[in-house]
Formats: sequence, structure tokens, C-alpha cells
Amino acid sequence: MATFWDLKKGGVFTNMHKGEHVTCKGCGYDKKLIDAHIIPKFFYMELRADGNHLNVLHAGNERIGRSFKGDYDNSILCKDCDGVFEKYDDYAKKILINGFNLFRPIWRGSELLGWELPPYDFSKIKLFFLSVLWRASISTRPFFKGVDLGMLESDLKEIVFNRAVDIHNRYTIMLCKFLPSKSGTLEKTIIAPEKVRVREIVYYKFYMGGYIVWVKIDKRMAVRVLQKCELRRLKGVVLATDFYSSVEYGDLEKAMIDFYAE
Ligand SMILES: [Zn+2]
Repeated sequence: MATFWDLKKGGVFTNMHKGEHVTCKGCGYDKKLIDAHIIPKFFYMELRADGNHLNVLHAGNERIGRSFKGDYDNSILCKDCDGVFEKYDDYAKKILINGFNLFRPIWRGSELLGWELPPYDFSKIKLFFLSVLWRASISTRPFFKGVDLGMLESDLKEIVFNRAVDIHNRYTIMLCKFLPSKSGTLEKTIIAPEKVRVREIVYYKFYMGGYIVWVKIDKRMAVRVLQKCELRRLKGVVLATDFYSSVEYGDLEKAMIDFYAE
């Protein structure tokens, strides 16, 4: 079967038909694959407040696109394996999206520094972000081409499917959130994830519904100031970031100008 051969070669599916049986990257069985979201749909849906589309900034940050239902991949997971992530996805939605009004703002004078999470299940939130990272790495969708875990892909798979312990605390999560726009929801644009380094320490950076998620994939510890911002079992903070003075805003502005010039 041509598609199976393509998969073995790690190639991109060009002749994939919906519902075709190919190897699931979760269980490894030859099963019917489903439309699997990498970044759960509700992070996209959050963007729809100001219109019926959402803004998506593609890899390389040079091109803006519009999406109606978010990016999904029909060549990676069967229904059962995707179902494993459903619990993580639902919990993340409950805490980070629906529960945001329960976050306690942290002020320094009149400056909003961030928010403190209410008591939460740290393991579930960590598993959620690691599962998004793993899904992005196994995906062949162009939007996720910046994510390639290489040797760590199987390591992470053990964690997200079998709850293997992250013994070296290699994977840590840091959350930032853009301050809400005065109008519209431009700050919630979904931007393609990328690999970044902070003083040599390697991270993947995701943009989801106004959150900027930093996932450390390095055995070395984060620099001291960033260690303080990592999500922990008993304490979670989200750092506030001003969207309009951010690098991302600059990229987005350029892409928007090109988009409307076309
Ligand atoms: Zn499967």
C-alpha cells in the first residue's frame, strides 16, 4: 500500500484518503486513523470572538493565514490513542480557558505582573503540554515543521501514554500570557511553534489562545530566574506579557501588511 510505504519512509502523505488504514503512531497498529488536532480545537475557538475565522501565523512568521476549524492531522493517530489525550485536553480547557477568571492577578503597584493559578493538578497540566509537544513532533503538517524531537520522541511517548516518570526533570513548563487587547483578539493569534534557546538551554515555544508556552526539553536546569517561573506541583504562575511591545507583534504586523497587500 503506497501510503504505508510513505509512512515508513517518513514521507508526507499526498494520497491519503480519509478513513484509510495506516499505522497509528501511538499504538503502532494498522488502524483507521482519525482527524487528530495537535493543538486542541478549543484553543482555536477562543479566537473566534471577533469574527468567524481565526488568524494563524505560519512557520517562519512570514505568512498569515485564516483557518475555520484549526489544523488537524489525519495521518498520525487512531481513535483510541487520540482518546488518551482527551482527558488532558479537557482538563487544560477547564483550568486554562474556562477557569481563567479564577486566576489571581499579581500586581506590583499599578503594573500587572501575572496571575497565580488556583489549586490545580500539576501532573495533568504537564501531561497536556507534553502531549501537545509529542503530537506536534509526530505530525507531518507544515505548520508544525519547526518541531522535531528526534531521539526524545520515544521518551516523551512513554511519558504521555504510560505515565513514565520524567526522572531528570528534563521537561518543565513555563507559561506566559499576552495582556488582552483593547479591541479584537489579535493577541490570540496561533503562531507556528519554534525551537528556541535561552542561554543554551533548549525549549519549544507554542502559542495557544493567548498563552505562550515554553516547554524545556533539556536535561540541564533552566537559568535561575526562569526556574522560579516554572509550573510546580503546589504553585503555578502565568507571567503577563505586553503583546504590543513583543517580537511576536512585530512579526504579526509585517505579515498582516503583506496579507492585506496581496
Ligand atoms: Zn493507536
